[in-house]
Amino acid sequence: MSQEDSIPVTSFSQFELIEPLNKAIEMAKYSAPRPIQATAIGPALEGRDVLGLAQTGTGKTAAFAIPCIEHLLRRNKPGPRVLVVGPTRELVTQIEEEFRKLSRGTQLRTMTIYGGISEKPQIKKLERRPDVICACPGRLLDLLGQGYVDLSRVDTLILDEADHMFDMGFLPDIKRILGHLQKQRQNLLFAATMPREIRRLAEQMLVDPFVVEIDHSVPASTIEHALYPVVEKRKAEMLRQLLQQDDFKSAIVFTRTKRRARQLAEKLDRDGHRAVALQGNMSQNQRDRAMKGFRQNNFDILVATDIAARGIDVEQISHVINLDIPNTPEAYTHRIGRTGRSEREGKAFTFITEDDGEMIRAIEKSIGASIEIITLPGFEEALLPSRTGRKNSSGKSNRSRPSSRSSSRSSSRSSSGPGQGRKPKRRRSSASSDSSRQNSGGDSSHSSGNRSPQQRRNSADRSASPAGEGKSRRSSRPGSGSQQRSASSSRRKGNSDSQNR
Ligand code: AMP
Repeated sequence: MSQEDSIPVTSFSQFELIEPLNKAIEMAKYSAPRPIQATAIGPALEGRDVLGLAQTGTGKTAAFAIPCIEHLLRRNKPGPRVLVVGPTRELVTQIEEEFRKLSRGTQLRTMTIYGGISEKPQIKKLERRPDVICACPGRLLDLLGQGYVDLSRVDTLILDEADHMFDMGFLPDIKRILGHLQKQRQNLLFAATMPREIRRLAEQMLVDPFVVEIDHSVPASTIEHALYPVVEKRKAEMLRQLLQQDDFKSAIVFTRTKRRARQLAEKLDRDGHRAVALQGNMSQNQRDRAMKGFRQNNFDILVATDIAARGIDVEQISHVINLDIPNTPEAYTHRIGRTGRSEREGKAFTFITEDDGEMIRAIEKSIGASIEIITLPGFEEALLPSRTGRKNSSGKSNRSRPSSRSSSRSSSRSSSGPGQGRKPKRRRSSASSDSSRQNSGGDSSHSSGNRSPQQRRNSADRSASPAGEGKSRRSSRPGSGSQQRSASSSRRKGNSDSQNR
């Protein structure tokens, strides 16, 4: 059955879910299903395998959690019966929170498994036979190896952010985990992009999958994007200026290196901002404290490396500021996915130097639109990257910048076609009914800095090093950009500090 054939779903009641689950959905204040939920929950309830191509913030967690909870409540059997595997501690924590939220008022037990903290509490929870395990691959395999986890009863496996797990070198671990599971099971695989290796994994793992594709590489349409030219040494100064804007509420500022994240957070703190760092050199406790503080509004600014780009779901982040441009278009999508969540408005500002031309082109191609360039008054000395093909039109603005009237915009927006507004053109939910559509995910090439997959795997699951320093991918949509440019490598050259990320 293709998505196009299915009856449109506009209410959760159409799924005829078990009453406690309906109640939990109501308590979560989910009034209507999101597109990915409207399309994927039905087939998943029928027991079908699902391949979901969806960006973060689309509601994909509930799209798989709801059918899992329904199955768990309808067939009361000893656990663990649902295994969710994800790349980072932050992500699996959020997935478990979503499971807990949606099983409120029931007896279901959920738990997380990840490295970097003591095994003991996890082993204790395992003894109580949880129904749902949300795990990072490394620690899960450790506990499996020691005989603390029995996955023989798992009848539903979810791989979330499978493309990210592949980037981080987790694919061999995932294959080992698959070896511990019974063959008769339902598989749900979610990814934002579909590199060749993940497509191959999906072909091996999924039986006649229902394919749902929701705007898988296009950032939320509620996000306003802008590029700010600046010379490297004045980035902190420009940041301070932007943080003075009226509409600033809270921000994640992304830096390329851990050291820079730490130093910048300290500097902002000295300036009187409530800022905290989140980077891979911090202990799990420090990271948890930083995240908790940010979530609870004790901090307004989280200065993070890419570890925070994925999975983190904090509402009301008004700004994502890329102090350093990300290394891949996918990292851009994931970073800026931290704002504009749940259909809120958000701003994504990227500081650019003259070396960033190639990456700007790759990002614009990936999101299918040109991003406007804003020259802040006082920062006119910054040269525009030559490869953007645009000229710095400082002083020739015909429109006012959101909060600084005197700044200028370059004529960077596409002058042709739709999407001329601030936001990139957004493809509406495109229901993909055949696997050839998935294949349009394009090829993948890896630009993972100078670190080996094993180094990245270890750092993500155990020692909390940044995630999301992933691959690059050629655009899957020929002609999707409002300006046709040749595909350029999205690998950054001369990235001398990638080791330090
Ligand atoms: P996710 O893409 O799973 O990270 O979800 C993004 C956010 O949307 C999370 O905070 C969810 O709790 C929230 N969410 C998911 N489904 C719905 C819904 N149907 N209505 C309102 N919020 C939702």
